[in-house]
Order: sequence, then C-alpha cells, then structure tokens
Amino acid sequence: MRLVLLGAPGAGKGTVAKMLTEIDGSVQISTGDILRAAVRDGTELGKKAKAYMDAGDLVPDELIMGIMRERLQQPDAAKGFLLDGFPRTIPQAEQLKTLLEELGIQLDAAVNLDVPREVILERLTTRRTCVQCGEIYNVKSKPPKVEGVCDKCGGQVVQRDDETEEAIAKRLDVYNEKTAPLVDFYEKEGLLLNVSATSSDEVVKAIRERLGL
Ligand code: ADP
Ligand code: ZN
Repeated sequence: MRLVLLGAPGAGKGTVAKMLTEIDGSVQISTGDILRAAVRDGTELGKKAKAYMDAGDLVPDELIMGIMRERLQQPDAAKGFLLDGFPRTIPQAEQLKTLLEELGIQLDAAVNLDVPREVILERLTTRRTCVQCGEIYNVKSKPPKVEGVCDKCGGQVVQRDDETEEAIAKRLDVYNEKTAPLVDFYEKEGLLLNVSATSSDEVVKAIRERLGL
C-alpha cells in the first residue's frame, strides 16, 4: 500500500505506520526518524536540521524533498510505503505529487488521524522514544519492560528534545498553520480518508476497509 499519514504530532502516525508494515511489508518512512538519526550521527543534514527541530519548527522544504526523493527510490520502497510526517506543508505535497508522477506511482490514500487536542497533549508529554530504533513508548500506557531500555533493540528510551512543554505547544501551532491545510489538499485530490479515532486499532481497521486488505 502507498499511504500518506496526516495528523497532529502525537496523533499516532508512527504507531499506525508500524502496525501497517506488518500487513503487506510496506515500509514506514518517517522524516522525523530520518532527521533524528542524522542529528545523532552528526551528518551534514543533521547539523542543518537540529536547531529547527529543537525549536519545534519545520526543517526547510528543500532539505526534506532531497531526503524523500532519494528515499522513495530505494528498492524496499517498491513494495509500498507509509509516509509518516511527510508531507508537512503544501509545497511538500505539491512536490511529492510531481515526484510520484515522475516515478510513475500513485498513492492509495491520505489518511487523516483526527484526534482531540486534549488527547494529543496528554500523549506527547508522556511519550518516550528509543533513540536507536524509533520505537515509541508511553510512561503511562506502554512503558518499556525495563525503565529507559528499549524492549526491541536495547537502545536508550528517552524524552525527545522537542518534547518539552514549550516545544510541544510550538509544534501544535506549526501543525495548525502549515500542515492542517493538507487535509483540504488531499480532499481535492480525491484521496482523503478521515478517521476520527482515539485508538490505533480503529485507525488500522478503517484503512484496511478502505483498501480492501
Ligand atoms: P511529530 O511527533 O511532531 O509528528 P516528527 O518525528 O514527525 O514529529 O518530526 C519531528 C521534527 O522533525 C519536526 O518538528 C520537524 O522539525 C522535523 N520534520 C519532520 N518531518 C518534517 C517535514 N516533512 N518537513 C519539515 N520538517 C520536518
Ligand atoms: Zn529500540
């Protein structure tokens, strides 16, 4: 399957993407994970992106498009992909459309995870992430078996630098201003699947129904 996952930070895009990869081997492509790995490894990309990320701002479109143009052409993406955290702006969505046309591939849907703001805030402040594999935990609902240690890979489980209260508020504002308009964009493209759901299971179910999987 080839999906764009839309939704505010904390809406559950990453969790849903991971669940969907189990269905048909499509790969999760998370721009946030790619950028965090670049920051951790101290690459040129990481150096350019870090300040934007820590402030809760978006990384410039040109950097993101460069990453995605390469990533979508990797062999594993041929099986299908779940775009998690991309596109994030109207220019990114337009350039993605052109890129996919060039590559001769079509999206199946753009899924909007519509989650109430209170739920989002609660989730983001309690969320923890594995620095190594990106696995997502929650101190209340899904803690790792050993505190601070990833169940999957043994990596360190931490609160992200951009998950301070201030950066979270900023990310939600940026989302409303820059990313929420993508819902209309994909509606006009005839690709929108809007799912009001608080559980990832329900979202996955709605996607399977829509795609007949
Ligand atoms: P969230 O949990 O907020 O959805 P992500 O892990 O997707 O977070 O992204 C973390 C940060 O990485 C964002 O706040 C932003 O700075 C940067 N980022 C990720 N994807 C994009 C993108 N498509 N365009 C611009 N910046 C991005
Ligand atoms: Zn891990």
